[in-house]
Amino acid sequence: MKNLRTCLTCNAKDDKKNLFRYIINDGLLMVDYFQKLQVRGIYTCKRESCIKNLTIKSVKRSLKDENLLKIDKEKILITIKNNLIKDIFSKIHIANKGGFVTATTNKIMESLKAGKVFTFFFIANDISDNSKERVLKFLRDPYQFSSFFSKSELGSIFGKSETNILGLFESAITDYIKDQVKIYSNIYTEGVVSNGNRKNN
Ligand SMILES: [Zn+2]
Repeated sequence: MKNLRTCLTCNAKDDKKNLFRYIINDGLLMVDYFQKLQVRGIYTCKRESCIKNLTIKSVKRSLKDENLLKIDKEKILITIKNNLIKDIFSKIHIANKGGFVTATTNKIMESLKAGKVFTFFFIANDISDNSKERVLKFLRDPYQFSSFFSKSELGSIFGKSETNILGLFESAITDYIKDQVKIYSNIYTEGVVSNGNRKNN
């Protein structure tokens, strides 16, 4: 790892792409989500505790900048949340262009019957209980899914008005998406559900 940085809260070292970056702007600490701003910055782990335990004192000392007045942690957490969701959504688009996504319950059923293996699913967060039960029933093996997006959001990826479910095939971009969903789940304790222990009724 050539871009090693240190978390200001817990002192763990990691590649900077595995950490969040922050800068001071107008007296406020702001997330530099894409790590592109040409200003000195500090880093934390992508963990709620490391974000929440940042102190004004340690940031000022690290950046040798006395202009920090406030760290609005709630706002920082919302910014990170929005960026993660946007990033995940745009990567599903890219995965789809690469042929790694299948939509609609029927097509996913066909693919499963043909022996194809999905490694992650997005199930719409506004489908009816009946549809959800149907979707969950035909997925026999343990799998993981997330419900970040609505039917119309998922549909828009395919130029459709709505779809209940997307399945992602194994690929580097799918792994990236799964990593981002995991980061989201670690911080916000929601986002990913596993049916590994689900009982059919
Ligand atoms: Zn840390």
